[in-house]
Amino acid sequence: MERLGIGLIGTGFMGKCHALAYRAVKAVFPEVPTPRLELLCDVPEPTRQADAFGFQRTTADWRDLLADDRVDLVSITTPNHLHHEMAVAALEAGKHVYLEKPMALTLAQAEQMAEVARTARGRTIVGYNYICNPLVRKARELFENGAIGRPIYFRGVVDEDYQADPDLPWSWRSTRAAAGLGALGDLGCHLVSIACEFLGPIDSLIAQQATVHETRPYGDAGERRPVENEDIAAALVRFRNGVQGNLSTSRSAWGRKNYLTWELHGDRGMIAFDQERMNELRLYQSGDDSATNGFRRILAGPEHTPYGAFVPAPGHGLGFNDLKTIELGGFLTAVAGDARPYPSFDDALHFERVVHAIAEAAEKGERITIQAP
Ligand code: NAD
Repeated sequence: MERLGIGLIGTGFMGKCHALAYRAVKAVFPEVPTPRLELLCDVPEPTRQADAFGFQRTTADWRDLLADDRVDLVSITTPNHLHHEMAVAALEAGKHVYLEKPMALTLAQAEQMAEVARTARGRTIVGYNYICNPLVRKARELFENGAIGRPIYFRGVVDEDYQADPDLPWSWRSTRAAAGLGALGDLGCHLVSIACEFLGPIDSLIAQQATVHETRPYGDAGERRPVENEDIAAALVRFRNGVQGNLSTSRSAWGRKNYLTWELHGDRGMIAFDQERMNELRLYQSGDDSATNGFRRILAGPEHTPYGAFVPAPGHGLGFNDLKTIELGGFLTAVAGDARPYPSFDDALHFERVVHAIAEAAEKGERITIQAP
């Protein structure tokens, strides 16, 4: 497979991120098929963005994009409420699908998407880009090689402050109909993808959640509208392998911009990471001289594949958009050959199950057992 025709739906934050990845991927991973940027879609029609994004043709109707024979692979970067309909239609049209997280508004929709994907001709991947960080991969290798001994606990936090301001106007993000879950669907699912990367599927959990700002201002006439989903959620989880963990998320945490932090505790050490310092990994190993022992700070460099495909020099650093290029490189490789993309719709369904279980456990005040993947 030499070239792949690309259709991109959405030109916002993630749409631009996908466009950057399509333009960079061949320079970074020369072995992947060349993306041929065919058709760009948004409402209104994105004629203004087309040239900058590298697309020749545009449309305002995503169904036209799916009907286009020159499009082999579709990026879906629209708001959450459109994911289910667009992804199912794309798979039914025989396209490969690169979908932004979360998969859908409801668990039932996500389950149906995974079912359609199981028999579809096209391959699928969901945008859990943080697991693509070369240092997260290095952390996994260290862990699997016994650098911190037996796992005993996972503690993870993902906080941002984009909904911290009580005066922020009401938007679609506050509604079940357009956003689905709140902080859990937006942020918490990323944390789940990281936790599962090290410890495998989650078996059961208890949880609590809160909506900090119950209403938000709407329009200029003093109207306020309800916030229907959670600003904060926290869960105590048990993985299928018996290890326990603690996951929490907030979209109302002042000062936190992308505070995706996690610690993997082992009986002989710890690995710790903070996405706001995404080019650093911290490793503590017991057993050295206790008077001088401490966390070692490992800076990203060419030894951490595929860092060297971007930059030959250590410590110079990758950025958020580079994670998307790595994610895309993996997907194009899978589409062109026999490798299995990860996380496919089937894999990501587990992350959806976990975040919906956190919301359910918080609402019912009960321990919820999660269906095995
Ligand atoms: P955004 O509002 O910046 O962009 C959404 C785009 O979709 C807009 O350009 C909008 O006009 C377009 N759109 C809306 N309806 C459309 C339609 N019917 N047809 C075609 N285009 C349409 O939103 P965003 O922040 O880019 O979020 C999009 C998705 O990406 C969300 O699901 C979000 O959860 C996800 N996201 C993922 C990450 C990540 O790290 N992987 C980060 C941010 C957002």
